[in-house]
Amino acid sequence: MNKITVTSPLLPDLDEFHQLLQEIWDSKWITNNGSFHKRLEQALCEYLKVPYISLFTNGTLPLITALQALRISGEVITTPYSFVATTHSIWWNGIRPVFVDIDPATGGIDPDRIEAAITPKTTAIMPVHVYGKPCRTAEIQAIADKYGLRVIYDAAHAFGVEVDGRSILNEGDMSTLSFHATKVYNTIEGGALVMHDAQTKQRIDYLKNFGFAGETEVVAPGINSKMDEMRSAYGLLNLRQVDQAIEARHQVAIRYREALRDVEGITFWDDMPGVRHNYSYFPIFVDAEKYGMTRDQLYFKLRDQGILGRRYFYPLISTFSTYRGLPSARRENLPMATKMAEEVICLPMHHLLSEQDLDRIICCIKIVQ
Ligand SMILES: *Cc1c(COP(=O)(O)O)cnc(C)c1O
Repeated sequence: MNKITVTSPLLPDLDEFHQLLQEIWDSKWITNNGSFHKRLEQALCEYLKVPYISLFTNGTLPLITALQALRISGEVITTPYSFVATTHSIWWNGIRPVFVDIDPATGGIDPDRIEAAITPKTTAIMPVHVYGKPCRTAEIQAIADKYGLRVIYDAAHAFGVEVDGRSILNEGDMSTLSFHATKVYNTIEGGALVMHDAQTKQRIDYLKNFGFAGETEVVAPGINSKMDEMRSAYGLLNLRQVDQAIEARHQVAIRYREALRDVEGITFWDDMPGVRHNYSYFPIFVDAEKYGMTRDQLYFKLRDQGILGRRYFYPLISTFSTYRGLPSARRENLPMATKMAEEVICLPMHHLLSEQDLDRIICCIKIVQ
């Protein structure tokens, strides 16, 4: 029985990649803002409909760097329902993370609970468009404006997501992306920071190159997070086929929704009106009482049959040893996030799932025993 994995990386055509590698070998320029790096930044700005982007070597360093660039300190309000890198980036800057519960309708931070978490030390909000579902950005911005806070979106899941034809990546002060192998669009490892103006891009480009502003001038304690030419070339090729991959994922989502709509105790989200989704994940939520099995029983049953779903995002970040002592990490403070983390399974979702794969997954969920 073949294994069905939760995801499968989008890979460029090997011959085409080889041709670009030949160009790199001929040029003998393999990193440090080479021509493929420039071409990929340009191509991504156009594809994503954003004014400025800066490429990074992964999706965690843009989070850390955005906080540095904006000189964020004190406390940052964030969500426990995410991948650990979100909160780690705050911690790595010596900032205290303050967890706020989520809105069960989006999975993102609940704007109605943000104000109560603001203290004189609060300087920023770091929400996550979890699973690529847009946060309630207008309400978050209104609170940030009222209290003079910055907003940095962890948009690692939101590649290509648009609301009414406008990129979600244009929200807040900056947005970060991850191009890790498991994401909708990948450069093997990689990431980016999206910003609104040329000066900010300049500053970010200094910071990701040790703070160098010229041959002999260092303007800040920067880091090394430059993307090399090989991965930039790979990224250019993947960008050409990402729409096709997203459409294939869309078809998988349609099939899951049709098949699972009437299964008692299993719920999932439909598309949001006016939103261009990227179908990066397909989370389902298991109500143990109504379904007749717990989430973990279903998860392990799927696994026994070679179907490798993932319990993203369980356990909550706030339960890990580094963070669980924080007052905001208390379970009573995070009832919605706790419930979602205990009910979720992300079903296999990628561009190569076959009809047979989907039949097998759906059948396993529909027969409850
Ligand atoms: C993947 C991911 C990251 C980190 O990206 P890497 O490229 O793996 O460093 C950050 N935040 C979220 C929400 C992610 O899913």
